[in-house]
Amino acid sequence: MTVTGAIWRDQLTDEERATLGRSDADVAGATPDVLVIGGGIAGTCTAGACSQAGLGDVLLIETGRLGTGATGGATGLLIPEPHQWSDPEPFVDLERAGLQRWRELQEGVPGGVGLVELDWIGLAPHDSGYAAHQPRAVEWLNPGQVAELVPGLARPMEGALIRRQGRVNPLRAVARIAAGIPAVATGVAATSVEIEGDRIIRVGTSAGVISPGAVVFATGRPPVLDGLQLDIPSEQVKGHLLVTNQTDVTLPGIVAPLATQIENRQLLAGGTFDIGDETPVVRRDVIESIAEGLATVLPALRDVGIAYQWHCFRPRHPDRRPVIDRVPGLANAWLTSGHFRTGILNAPVTAAVLAKWILAGEPPAEAGSWSATRFAGL
Ligand SMILES: Cc1cc2nc3c(=O)[nH]c(=O)nc-3n(C[C@H](O)[C@H](O)[C@H](O)COP(=O)(O)OP(=O)(O)OC[C@H]3O[C@@H](n4cnc5c(N)ncnc54)[C@H](O)[C@@H]3O)c2cc1C
Repeated sequence: MTVTGAIWRDQLTDEERATLGRSDADVAGATPDVLVIGGGIAGTCTAGACSQAGLGDVLLIETGRLGTGATGGATGLLIPEPHQWSDPEPFVDLERAGLQRWRELQEGVPGGVGLVELDWIGLAPHDSGYAAHQPRAVEWLNPGQVAELVPGLARPMEGALIRRQGRVNPLRAVARIAAGIPAVATGVAATSVEIEGDRIIRVGTSAGVISPGAVVFATGRPPVLDGLQLDIPSEQVKGHLLVTNQTDVTLPGIVAPLATQIENRQLLAGGTFDIGDETPVVRRDVIESIAEGLATVLPALRDVGIAYQWHCFRPRHPDRRPVIDRVPGLANAWLTSGHFRTGILNAPVTAAVLAKWILAGEPPAEAGSWSATRFAGL
C-alpha cells in the first residue's frame, strides 16, 4: 500500500528522489545470481548486502518506487535500548546489532545513510512508571533534571535517559543504499514462480521472466505469488504520524511518548497502533488526538499547527517478530517479512544474516529464532 503525505520525500535531494525511481536493469530474460523482490528497507539493504558480500549479479525489483510501502511512512527511530521494557532479550539483541549495522552503513556508504545519533528520554507518567524490567543503559532523571532537558512540561515528571540511540529519514537511507546496488528495476511486480525440484528456476514479473540463481522475498508481508505455497499468518497494523509546523519549542532528541526533534525546527509525533482500522486514509480524529496529546504535555505546542500528516501499515506476524529464513522446502529462496514496528532498525542486520546464509549455504547463528515454520498449527 503506497504511503503518501509523509515528510520524508520532501527532505530528499533531487538525486535521492531520482534514485527511488531507478529502473536501469533489463528484466526480461535476466539471469541474476541473486534476485531480491521488494524495494522497502529490508529488500534494499539485502540487495546491498548481497552485492557487498560478492554474491555476483544482484537485481532488485520493486512494484512501485523504492520505499513505497511501510518504509516510506515509518518514524525512522533506531532505539533498541528502550525496547528492553517491551521486547524479549534475543529480540533486543537483534535490534542492538541493527543499530550497530546502521553505524557501519553510515561509515561505509558514500555520503552516509543520514544516520542521526540522538538521546532518548522517556517521560514516566508517575513515579513507578519504569519500575519493572530495567534496561542496563538507562540513567534515571528526577523531575528537576527532566524539566531542564524538556522545559515547559505541564507538570513535573520523572524520566529515563538513554544515550546514543538513532534515527534516519527512511527514504534517504533507501536512496543512499540503493545508489550502490548494480541493478534496480522499479515498476516491476513479481507475479509467479516456477519451481523444479527444490529450486525456483523462474520468476514471472510484469516486465518478463527472470531466471535467478537465488531469490529473496522482502515484500513486507509474505508474498502472494502464483506457484508459491506459503502458509505464514500475517496482518497489517495501521499507524498515524504528524509533523508540526516550525516551532521554537525544541526537544533534546526523542522524548517518548511525546515527539522527536527533526530538522528545520519541526517535531515528529505519533506512531499510533490503530488495531482493526484497515481504511487506507488519514483519520482526522487520530491526528487530532496526537496533537492534543502534545499540547497536554507541552502547552506551548497548543497552537503550533500541523505541516504533515500521514498513515502507514506495519506488516506483522502473530508473535510480533519477523521471519528471516529460507523458504520452507526450497533450497534457493529466502524470505524476510513481518518486521512490524522495528523494520527500519532491523533491516541492515536482517540483510547481513541473509547475505551470509546465501553465501555459506548454512544458516548463521543469528537466524535461529526467526523461522518461517514457527507458526505451524496456529
Ligand atoms: C507509523 C509507523 C511507524 C513506524 N516507525 C518505525 C520506527 O520508528 N522504527 C522502525 O524500525 N520501524 C518503524 N516502523 C516499521 C517499519 O516501517 C516496517 O517494519 C518496515 O518499513 C518494513 O520494511 P519492509 O522492507 O519489510 O516492508 P515494506 O517497506 O512494506 O517494503 C516491501 C516492498 O515490497 C514491495 N512488493 C510487495 N510485493 C511485491 C511484488 N510482488 N513484486 C515487487 N515488489 C513487491 C512493496 O511495494 C514494498 O515497497 C513503523 C511503521 C509504521 C507504520
